[in-house]
Amino acid sequence: MMDFHCHLDLYPSARTVHTEAARRCEFVWLVTTSPRAFIATSRILQPAPTIIISPGLHPEVAHQRHNELPLLLEEIGRASAVGEVGLDGSARYREHFSVQKAIFEATVERCSELGGRVLSIHSRSAAKEVLDTLERHSAHGTAVLHWFSDSPTQLRRAIELGCWFSIGPAMLRSANGLRLAASLPSERVVPESDGPFAKLDSRPIMPWQAMDIVGPLANVWGLTEDKVRAQLTENGRELRHMMTAENSQ
Ligand SMILES: [Zn+2]
Repeated sequence: MMDFHCHLDLYPSARTVHTEAARRCEFVWLVTTSPRAFIATSRILQPAPTIIISPGLHPEVAHQRHNELPLLLEEIGRASAVGEVGLDGSARYREHFSVQKAIFEATVERCSELGGRVLSIHSRSAAKEVLDTLERHSAHGTAVLHWFSDSPTQLRRAIELGCWFSIGPAMLRSANGLRLAASLPSERVVPESDGPFAKLDSRPIMPWQAMDIVGPLANVWGLTEDKVRAQLTENGRELRHMMTAENSQ
């Protein structure tokens, strides 16, 4: 079991979920939504060797938390992984797009200056701008696009840029999600829960359910479930290796 994008600190019973995830999962990437949340979460949850907590600044709260940008840039200096960061161009957040862009630009630039980081990136209705930013700072490291939902054209561009993709069971419930998943490079896909935001049958997806993507992926990739499971596990280990301390300076 692996989960490469989880808001573990935001489940109603975070401590219990954390203990359970540490016991059941080979690896969990806990992405935070603000630099202060990163500090609080790192203090509250017991360190576990299989759980990485990364500093982020979610685009949905960018307009409320932009004054935490200097703190984020400082934290990135000590972290090997960064997230959740990115852009959200959907109707609800579009009015704050310029603040989001300034934050994301500075974040990616910082990762690039530091020689690269592994980033978990939100790109809802903004894949073009996300990819433009990554392109401007080509030494940013490894970008993992979480729950990619943009056009096939932007997907092709992301693949050419070397992006990875974290996808979850909720994404594969939609026809569009399945269509996009079919064209992903299988060697750059890892599972994610995006819990507790992402839900199945109105229940938050748990970190140990992220691997439920195996069945639907086997269908769209035309492979056996065993093959898909083995591939995802191999990918996950490779990505996790990139996120270990030796990458940070
Ligand atoms: Zn998320």
